[in-house]
Amino acid sequence: MKETMKAAVYTKEKGIHLEDVPVPVIQKDTDVIVRVIYSTICGSDIHINSGVYAVEDGLIIGHEFVGEVIEVGKAVKKLKVGDKVAANCITTCGECYYCKHGYTNHCENGGWNFGYKINGCQAEYIRVPFADNGLYKISPELDLRKVLFVGDILSTGYFGAIRGDIQPGDTVVVLGAGPVGMCAMASARLFGPAQIIAVDVVDYRLEIAKREGVADLVLNSSQEDIEAYVKEVTDGRGADVVIECAGVKATFDLSWKIARPNGTVSIVALYGEVMELPLNIMAGKNLTIRSGWVDSIYMQELICLIEKGKLNVDFLMTHEAPLNDILKGYDIFGNKKENCMKWVISPYVE
Ligand SMILES: [Zn+2]
Ligand SMILES: [Zn+2]
Repeated sequence: MKETMKAAVYTKEKGIHLEDVPVPVIQKDTDVIVRVIYSTICGSDIHINSGVYAVEDGLIIGHEFVGEVIEVGKAVKKLKVGDKVAANCITTCGECYYCKHGYTNHCENGGWNFGYKINGCQAEYIRVPFADNGLYKISPELDLRKVLFVGDILSTGYFGAIRGDIQPGDTVVVLGAGPVGMCAMASARLFGPAQIIAVDVVDYRLEIAKREGVADLVLNSSQEDIEAYVKEVTDGRGADVVIECAGVKATFDLSWKIARPNGTVSIVALYGEVMELPLNIMAGKNLTIRSGWVDSIYMQELICLIEKGKLNVDFLMTHEAPLNDILKGYDIFGNKKENCMKWVISPYVE
């Protein structure tokens, strides 16, 4: 095997750039080395590049990937060389208090590590700790791209939908029609709502949500009074469930305002500043508000839903190019150019 590989590495001086680095090796018996077949650029990577999330100099970026097992540690039980796998972006030891309770993002020995605390997947190869818990075998017949998002954005959207406690016949409003918002809409559909309303300020995203059938109604919040519109289409009540995926003050404030009394607000967005709930004004609204980072414990059910054709977010893959072109990907995806939803990275071409 090769000794060096190409990888997208972050340094304070250069930002994210392509570099030759050593190919990873097994460090612990529970590790696996995966040849990355497809990976992505995620919004979090953009935040790393702009310095919002601090990472150590020299770290390989990236946490959403699928690939092929090429080496297994001695203690790995469920995987063998040649297996095609989808990867959970959260590393879970499976043993600690949090893992045992399903709160995997708080794993005492893991959490969000790939491309944040340990080397990530925007590379030719990646070392996966606790591989038996984080890698899921994919049937060789399935196009690996179909499960590329299960370990991160689809897990997050699904988590948002589950925590919205959607009942058949509900009106669900999803704030933000970016990749996570789209995954939340596609997931919400599984629970039988009467209508899904997508809200965003970017028209092309709303058009995609409508065209792909993940939303029934789409609203541009820079042009429409969302609160009035949602009341109008719900007999004056408001939305039964609001899933907030946008992550700005305007959408946070909207999330509790457009929910009906006794409704549920499920927040999976990340905020860059303090958000305040005016409980004095909200008194009597009796909302259930849930928030948090994904505990991505749904890998197996998401893969099953995709394999059986019940869940499909392939339309998010608007761009695909080899690792060679990753900087172009950061520009196009990061700056929302060319109506980009997701930038898929295929293997480096010599
Ligand atoms: Zn991500
Ligand atoms: Zn753990």
